[in-house]
This record gives sequence, C-alpha cells and structure tokens, in this order.
Amino acid sequence: MDQGMLLAGEWVRRDRVIEVEDPATQEIIATVPEATPEDATRALQAAATAQREWARRTAMDRGDVLRRWARLIEADAEGLAGIIVREQGKPLAEARGEVQGTIKFFDYAASFDRHLMGDVVPADSPNEQMWNVPSPVGVVVAITPWNYPAVIPARKIAPALVAGNALILKPNSLTPLAALELGRLGQEAGVPSGVFQVLTGPGTTIGEALVRDPITRLVTFTGSTATGKRLIQLAAEHVTVVSLELGGKAPFIVMDDADLDRAVADAIVTRFINCGQTCICNERTYVHERVAPAFLERFVEAARTLPVGDPMADGTRVGPKVSLEELQKVEAQLEAARSAGATTLTGGHRLTEGRYARGYWMEPTVLTDVRQDMPIMREEVFGPVVPVMEFRDFDEVIGLANDSRYGLAGYLYTKDVDRVMRAVRDLECGELFVNRGPGESIHGYHAGWKESGIGGDDGKYGMEHYIRRKTVYLRYEG
Ligand code: NDP
Repeated sequence: MDQGMLLAGEWVRRDRVIEVEDPATQEIIATVPEATPEDATRALQAAATAQREWARRTAMDRGDVLRRWARLIEADAEGLAGIIVREQGKPLAEARGEVQGTIKFFDYAASFDRHLMGDVVPADSPNEQMWNVPSPVGVVVAITPWNYPAVIPARKIAPALVAGNALILKPNSLTPLAALELGRLGQEAGVPSGVFQVLTGPGTTIGEALVRDPITRLVTFTGSTATGKRLIQLAAEHVTVVSLELGGKAPFIVMDDADLDRAVADAIVTRFINCGQTCICNERTYVHERVAPAFLERFVEAARTLPVGDPMADGTRVGPKVSLEELQKVEAQLEAARSAGATTLTGGHRLTEGRYARGYWMEPTVLTDVRQDMPIMREEVFGPVVPVMEFRDFDEVIGLANDSRYGLAGYLYTKDVDRVMRAVRDLECGELFVNRGPGESIHGYHAGWKESGIGGDDGKYGMEHYIRRKTVYLRYEG
C-alpha cells in the first residue's frame, strides 16, 4: 500500500518513500512519503494560518471536534489495533488497550473545553483590573517514537488542539501508519485543514527542519534522551519551548515483607509488556536478600513460560522486537553484560528457528550476578531482558535506585507504610507505583526527572504546556 501524508489538508505523495515493515514477518506492508524540508515549510505556514482561525472558535466547538474524532476512532478500533500490531509488533490485546487509551485521551482533553481557566487578580491601584488570560501557544510540533504509535501522538494532539493550537505530527519512520490513520479520522471528524498534519520522514532531516523553524513555538517530543538533547540545542536558536519525555531505567524494588505473588506477576508484566519496549518498564529488579531465592524461582519460571509468538494470535504475551537494528542493540547489551560477569537464568538468545525464522524475536531473559556499575544496570534496555540484584536494607536500595541519570518511573513492593512514605519523599522519579504494576491514568502527570525529561504530558499539569498565559492590566475611569 502506497500511502500519502497529510499536508495542508491534502494527502500528498513523494517520489522518495520509506518502507514500513511488519516485524513479525519482515513483510513490507506499506510505503509512506519521505517529506522534504520544503514540505516542512509548507506545513508550518499552513499550520500558522489555520491556527489563527481555530483559536478564534470557542473551546466548546473545538471540544466537539475532538469528541467526534474519538467516536470515529471508537468505530475504527479494530482497524487501528490491527495497524498497530502490524507495524509495531505488540500483541493484539495490548494494541486494543492502546486504542482505548487513545480514545480516552481525546475525550479527556475535550472535557477541558469548559475548563481552560484564567484568573482575575486583585489590582494594585484603584480603577484597575488585572487578568491572567490563557492563550494557545500557536504552532506545535510533535515528534513521537515507535513503541506506542497511536496513544503517544494522541496524548499530545488532543490537549494541543482543544487549547487552540495547530499541531504537526512527525511519527517515527518505523511506525507511521497509526498516525496517518488518526489523520484520516481527524479529517472525517471535521478538523480544519492545516490544524492537524502528519509529515513522514527521517527525524534528522524533516524533524530538524520543523524544530528549527521560528514558526514552531512548542516542540513536544517523546523519544530517546540523545535525541531530546539534540532538540534542546536546536530549539535554543529561537527560544522555542520544549516538552520532552525521554528514556528511563525504572527500578523495581521488592522488600522482604512484599506480597511475593503480586510482586512476581507485576515484575513480569512491567518488564515484558510490549516486548520490553516501554519507557517505564522494570529495567532493574532489586530484591531483598531474604526473599530473593523465592522471588527468583517464581520470576524465572514465569519468564521462561511466557508465550512468545504471532502478535495477532490469542494468548501471545511477547511479540517481536520492532526492528532488526533494535534487536541487535539489545543483543549487544546482553553480550556486554555476560562478558562483565552476568549469569543468564533463563533466555538469553535470539529466536530464529521454525516459526521464528522470519521476524525479530528474542527470548524473555533474566540475568543475575550483576553489579550496579555494569552498563546493564545503567543504560536503558528497550527489550525483554532484566537484571536482578539483591540488596540488604531499605536505605541501600533507595541509594541504588537513585544512582541513575534517569528518573522516569519507580516501583516499590512493601506493606510498611513508613517505607512507602520515605520512598515518596526520597525516590527521584516522576512516577512512583506502589504495590502496583504500570498503567498510567489520563489525568496523572507523565513527566521524567533528571535526564528523563523536561515538562511532560497528561492531566491538568500536562495541559499547561499547551497554553501561554498573558497578564492584562486594565485601567478604567472611576
Ligand atoms: P528516537 O529518539 O530515536 O526517535 C524518536 C523520534 O525522534 C522519531 O520520530 C525520530 O524520527 C525522531 N528524531 C530522531 N532524531 C531526530 C532529530 N535529530 N531531530 C528531530 N527528530 C528526530 O526514539 P525511539 O523512537 O527509538 O523511541 C525509543 C525511546 O523513546 C526510548 O529511549 C524510550 O525510553 C523513549 N520513550 C520515552 C517515553 C516517555 O514518555 N518518557 C515513552 C516512550 C518512549 P525517525 O526515527 O523517523 O528518524
């Protein structure tokens, strides 16, 4: 299928195309255009013009468009889930969950249509009024990763548009199809041309062209820390605002009083969901030495028996890695850990035989005999590989958890309320899950600390990034 991209209200094709591959079969399922820097300029100009009109509509009107969009996604839920599975490889049940999350983001953002509030502030002088007025930022550029190709764009598009902004989406080139499907449905919902556009193409050319242009007033990005740092540099040129959700290395802490069944079950989901390709994954499991043997026995058995296979098949828990390059990255990290002394308790290999002959498969892998200074404990591993390390006491494990350049998420399993409160106070992360696996709420605030990000998305605090505030001082005759 030769697909166009959504530029200034039209579906546009280009001679140069990018092939989209199904990572479970290596079949080329579509091609999308490789946008040029001139396309970026045209999209930005169209967005700037369209945004002025869009911002003049009432917020309720904009909310109605988003609600219509949500209903269309709902009606297309199975189609969109199928697209996600084919371009990205996550199991169908997870893709269906992603689509439901996508719908929720549109409905939730639409509900801000009556809550985009300003303030009337007491004035310093008589016969004066002072207001704080919320205004849209203007033209927003959203650059998104491949691991959640529908819901990550949605958590940016929906708040941006209800606030009166126009948004240009540049999805990851591995997974542009769900974004284009959202564009198709948005058009059908009545999003005016130029208010939402999808440009496909490499980040280093088209992404950079969008970020560098002074028309862009906000760059909202989810992706790797390395790219995030590059975007900060580019955005500095025109003092463009950035909101960055970057990599993570979440610690998963199991204390000696934890409910072990729950901790094991959640540690499995939290590591192996989406084949380990989630920014808040359990990246390093720390288990109290008193319960480590019991935990490991159950954890290793659960990892060993996870069904790996066709993401469209019922019962599959782990699909393929998204691409050969991503698979090789994880293999290299695993090899380095082994060379540094790590022991493989289960897994440890790429799967290549029989039904795995085509596609990018990897066994769920558990490592032990790891040390805090090993790269496997420090670098993000976007795959089904988890190191497990023992510790002696709570203070030690808080230190280990914080000993990271990342600060996105953390997990703690304990029944001791004092430890819970100390973790709330001391753990350096933007999201803390206590006795519970992952799964964020649309009205939380997903934001990384340290090198995991600046700004963030979701909830009322996420909405603030899509708004500027203007203070008005007004004097009148008394
Ligand atoms: P990348 O940073 O490689 O890519 C993300 C996006 O940025 C892609 O659309 C890419 O385009 C684009 N891009 C790459 N280089 C540039 C550039 N110089 N200028 C502008 N745009 C550019 O991340 P991945 O897609 O590989 O995603 C995985 C990463 O995302 C992991 O580190 C993960 O932790 C993080 N992530 C963070 C989340 C969070 O909320 N904190 C959530 C999900 C993922 P293209 O690839 O098409 O060239």
